[in-house]
Amino acid sequence: MRKLSSLEPQKVFGFFEDITQIPHGSYNLEGIRKFLIDFAVSRNLEYVADDAGNVIIKKPATAGYENVPGIIIQGHMDMVAVCDEGSGIDMKTTPLDVFIDGDLIGAKHTSLGGDDGIAVAMALAILDSDDIPHPSLDVVITANEETGMEGAFGLDISNVSNRRLLNIDSEDEGIFTVGCAGGARVKCTIASDTASLPEGAVILECKVSGLLGGHSGTMIGLGRANAGKVMGRILGAGCKVSSDAVLLNLTGGTADNAIMLESIATVAVPGEAADAFSDAMMAEFKIIAKEYENADPGMNFGVTKSDKKEEVIKLSLKKASDFLNELPFGVIAMSKDIEGLVQTSLNLGILKSEAGEMTAEFSVRSSVGSERDELIERLKKITSDFGGTNKVTGVYPGWEYKTESPLRDKMVRVFKDMYGYEPKVEAIHAGLECGFFMDKASDIDAVSIGPDMQDIHTTSERLSISSTARIYEYVLKILADKA
Ligand SMILES: [Zn+2]
Repeated sequence: MRKLSSLEPQKVFGFFEDITQIPHGSYNLEGIRKFLIDFAVSRNLEYVADDAGNVIIKKPATAGYENVPGIIIQGHMDMVAVCDEGSGIDMKTTPLDVFIDGDLIGAKHTSLGGDDGIAVAMALAILDSDDIPHPSLDVVITANEETGMEGAFGLDISNVSNRRLLNIDSEDEGIFTVGCAGGARVKCTIASDTASLPEGAVILECKVSGLLGGHSGTMIGLGRANAGKVMGRILGAGCKVSSDAVLLNLTGGTADNAIMLESIATVAVPGEAADAFSDAMMAEFKIIAKEYENADPGMNFGVTKSDKKEEVIKLSLKKASDFLNELPFGVIAMSKDIEGLVQTSLNLGILKSEAGEMTAEFSVRSSVGSERDELIERLKKITSDFGGTNKVTGVYPGWEYKTESPLRDKMVRVFKDMYGYEPKVEAIHAGLECGFFMDKASDIDAVSIGPDMQDIHTTSERLSISSTARIYEYVLKILADKA
């Protein structure tokens, strides 16, 4: 039974409901890809299904719009497919059980995929119509955005004829995104350098915890503490008491893009220095806690004597802490064009020791490609100064704010006419697929918009019905405007 058929605009919610009935988590896209191709074939629309998994559907300009600059309408076909623990739902095979709750659409016990199914639904509704005036259209539906933007990465831009890019993958009606960060993951590794433990070694287990953490892109500007960096300073203070201490294990964090919440170090300290060593670490912790009393007030530090000697590595503690303390973190530069926007930053997300090596893993972000590259070089230099090695992966381009953007000007004007107020024009310190488009064709002019959504990527994800209707109406006005 159809659940959304009473909603307006009918075509948009009709296609959206179709999409919810096809499981389409990242890497499980065969069904939705076939759906898109069948759609194009049955309507006699030219399409390209490329090797990166993307589907591009083209529609010529309607009468009178042949000379208006064409538009790329873009969204991604995959969703973050999550379900409530214990619900027993197989997200690979089960259609979503959608429901309406007032102005909101959700799915029982699962994410909804409003991100980014609603973009696909709007694009299909436009392609399906014969009464919507529009210039030449490239509808670009990318694959596997949520897992690292692989579709956008692999897109062959020669399959796209137009240069004005309307990305519908934002979640705030009334906010235009006009810039985003690019980034990379950088692993910095140094190896064990000693065979022996100090005389009469006492094993101390040190734990930094209670930090607020947060997303390393959107929340890096809040100035919160990073457990790995806090640990580096605390261990460094201990080393002023005895430089003979040895690091046996160091862990912290689970993902490079989350600010580290907790870190644990196991160290071997000369027996006679153990108490003074602990005291020095505790004193340093108190200084750090004071520095962060407003930005990160719940920070804890504990040190306990331990009898288990887990020697995952054997690294001079002085060297390890010097290394951690020299690695930069947090905000490196703010934007000169957009007030309050972080331009360049990095986050220490993961610390681990294995197979005789200690690794610090960073997420580097910048909306300026050269600043991203310079920061990566800095991490490499510091690591090599300590005799270590680096691995750089997942490099993706940013989207630098363009001072001149005819699409943005037109969209702001049409928005004001329709809504009666100015949209907020923002850039974000996180990734969007638009960066890949611009990297491939620098003359692309882009704006990202979208209807109101809540709690995307979770089972509480909700999509606003009224906001979807307004954004769709707005998109039609953009297409109808001949400027
Ligand atoms: Zn998305």
